[in-house]
Amino acid sequence: MHALLPTTTVGSLPKPSWLAQPEVLWSPWSLQGDTLIEGKQDALRIAVHEQTRRGIDILSDGEQTRQHFVTTFIENLSGVDFDKRETVRIRNRYDASVPTVVGEVRRERPVFVDDATFLRASTDRPIKWALPGPMTMVDTLYDSHYKSREKLAWEFAGILNEEAKALEAAGVDIIQFDEPSFNVFFDEVKDWGVAALERAAEGLRAQTAVHICYGYGITANTDWKATLGSQWRQYEESFPLLQRSSVDIVSLECQNSHVPMDLIELIRGKKVMLGAIDVANETVETPEEVADTLRRALAFVDADKLIPSTNCGMAPFPRGVALQKLSALSAGAAILRDELG
Ligand SMILES: [Zn+2]
Repeated sequence: MHALLPTTTVGSLPKPSWLAQPEVLWSPWSLQGDTLIEGKQDALRIAVHEQTRRGIDILSDGEQTRQHFVTTFIENLSGVDFDKRETVRIRNRYDASVPTVVGEVRRERPVFVDDATFLRASTDRPIKWALPGPMTMVDTLYDSHYKSREKLAWEFAGILNEEAKALEAAGVDIIQFDEPSFNVFFDEVKDWGVAALERAAEGLRAQTAVHICYGYGITANTDWKATLGSQWRQYEESFPLLQRSSVDIVSLECQNSHVPMDLIELIRGKKVMLGAIDVANETVETPEEVADTLRRALAFVDADKLIPSTNCGMAPFPRGVALQKLSALSAGAAILRDELG
């Protein structure tokens, strides 16, 4: 574990082909029952092994235990009917058939606690666990019960807080909330989005992170990015609010992205998980490219608050590409660490 520039990933890594079809997002499991549980654990062990030997400091489970970053969590709640589906527009970008909120939402059982316990037992390094953020959860459902995005988000925030506390008790060091919706619904971010996020993180001793993002390299996202112009200034809306919030770490993408780096100044004082690895392009960055991205960021974030990371998850990549990118990330961080002495 490096005290300076500790490396990490946003979360997901490709799954082995025997667990789920590779290079496809959200692909269904190839195993069932007890064999599936065993298969997920084996995949998690591989994810830990590869991150460790490639020099990643803060480990994730590679999201080997979940199919979808939002739905897998919601599947474990009551009040949501997965057979009753409606078509809604996700993040104002693409239509999807989604489950319906039909009653009071409640966490019936721990969702990821067993998986996190397994991860904890698999490594001595610090571990990070990702949960969906309240606003992104709301945006992935059709609500016929609360009939208010804010009310539903508030309910989810309470549920997420229960899960986050259980994950913390299982030994998770950093709880990360994935909130790609923060780059889309600016009025809601201001009105209740950040407040709901803080509610989800309330009372935690573990550090908390928020990952806002422009998504995987899927067509709906690349088409959307094409409409954003030459400078992506969306973080400009959420960063001043997050700077004043209780969240410890903010994750953003910087490699091959059109995000002007000076926006990082808006979260001065927070730790920054800086994306120095592109997840929409299979070309593996050189260590020098990674170091260069990180070096440029130092104008806006103090070195002791910089956490080199990936832009987003790497689930859709061929395994070899993702693993080489892990190596590039740690080699790039090492170059800069040497420079900083
Ligand atoms: Zn992302």
